Amino acid sequence: MPYCTECGGRLTWDRKLKHYSCQSCGMTFTEAELSEALERLHTPREDAEELKNKRHQEYLEWWLKEKKGHK
Ligand SMILES: [Zn+2]
Repeated sequence: MPYCTECGGRLTWDRKLKHYSCQSCGMTFTEAELSEALERLHTPREDAEELKNKRHQEYLEWWLKEKKGHK
């Protein structure tokens, strides 16, 4: 079952209206809207880039520490 991108609540498929509706906040998503929302949620490009930079930074710090440690 997919989850609401707004509140994380459970979504149920409404066959009659052909959309998902959130049990918690009442948000509704069509299938297209949901997949689009999920895609945005799972691939935040800027965040991914930021994370990559952060990892690189952490790696550099670790590397420098290691270097010092081996003196
Ligand atoms: Zn919700």
